[in-house]
Amino acid sequence: MDGQIENVVIVGSGPAAWTAAVYAARARLDPLVYEGAPSREMIPGGQLMFTTEVENYPGFPEGVDGQTLMMGMRAQAERFDTRIITDDIVEVDPTERPFRLRSAGGDTLRARTVIIATGARANWLGLHNEERLAQSGGGVSACAVCDGALPAFRDQVLAVVGGGDSAMEEATYLTKFARQVVIIHRRDAFRASPIMAERALNDPKIRVEWNSVVTEVLGDDFVTGLRLRDTVTGEEREIEVGGLFLAIGHTPNTAFLKGVVELDETGYILTPEPWRTATSVEGIFAAGDVMDSYYRQAVTAAGTGCMAALEAERYLAHAVEADVGSDLPTEPVA
Ligand code: NAP
Repeated sequence: MDGQIENVVIVGSGPAAWTAAVYAARARLDPLVYEGAPSREMIPGGQLMFTTEVENYPGFPEGVDGQTLMMGMRAQAERFDTRIITDDIVEVDPTERPFRLRSAGGDTLRARTVIIATGARANWLGLHNEERLAQSGGGVSACAVCDGALPAFRDQVLAVVGGGDSAMEEATYLTKFARQVVIIHRRDAFRASPIMAERALNDPKIRVEWNSVVTEVLGDDFVTGLRLRDTVTGEEREIEVGGLFLAIGHTPNTAFLKGVVELDETGYILTPEPWRTATSVEGIFAAGDVMDSYYRQAVTAAGTGCMAALEAERYLAHAVEADVGSDLPTEPVA
């Protein structure tokens, strides 16, 4: 890639990234996607790669498993000759035009526009056994909707940690399979919206351990219980559970963008204009979960990916008039 100036570099490989790629490729912008390198926390394809059944993506009346959906999106981008590199972008220099980017593998490239679609990853408590059992399939998960239906969780007492909308949603969802669901929350009031909190609190299968934090996950091959500490009295106690689900928020994958584009206080990319994906830096666009802490759905991510590609295309068309990039197409492909 060295020496070549790219029209559009797309960073990421979830629904936002692949949708942006399809639109940019069909507009003959010859997009280049950095889909990310596999790591312990992330694999190319993003969060849907961890999801078994996706029942709410339009066009799949019988549902589709997350990996199949993502491989299909990737293949669709490839069909229009999108170039794909399995590496992370670790640096974006916004002070130069075209932008200068660097990958973890050592590529340096120049890009007239950049679409950031790096998503967000689930937060964990950071306990030793939590990580070990999550990795070994030992009954610890950060996605109830992905894993809750597994046979190992049927008729068990399942714990959900958190007090936000995700915790309420996941706890309510888990009642379909569990004997009982215990929400463990560190305070005495939920952060969740009243309607979702009410639904959970009124569910006879759900009980709440208020003012409690998990200090240890118990179990050798599979979770068998939790050690809890009362945040008011400091007292410790153990409860038996057959599964642990974390719902303590997500962290957007924007560490490499600090000081590059404006982020909110939790690290999500700000897109100041409503219904736009333009960031604080002209020519850099953001799509998907990395700029959306609210909806966090595959279909909304895909929608913003489409928006980002169209905005990049329009930005480039103006840039052609202004001077940069005489090799750009002038007529978008319908
Ligand atoms: P959130 O609102 O940030 O809630 C995270 C929860 O986890 C909080 O209750 C927080 O406790 C707790 N927490 C954080 N770190 C913790 C730690 N280390 N130990 C123990 N507890 C910890 O995240 P979210 O529930 O994922 O929701 C994110 C956004 O998505 C929100 O805007 C939400 O409305 C939206 N959402 C909407 C829906 C829906 O409408 N269907 C569903 C899911 C999410 P504190 O309260 O004490 O801070």
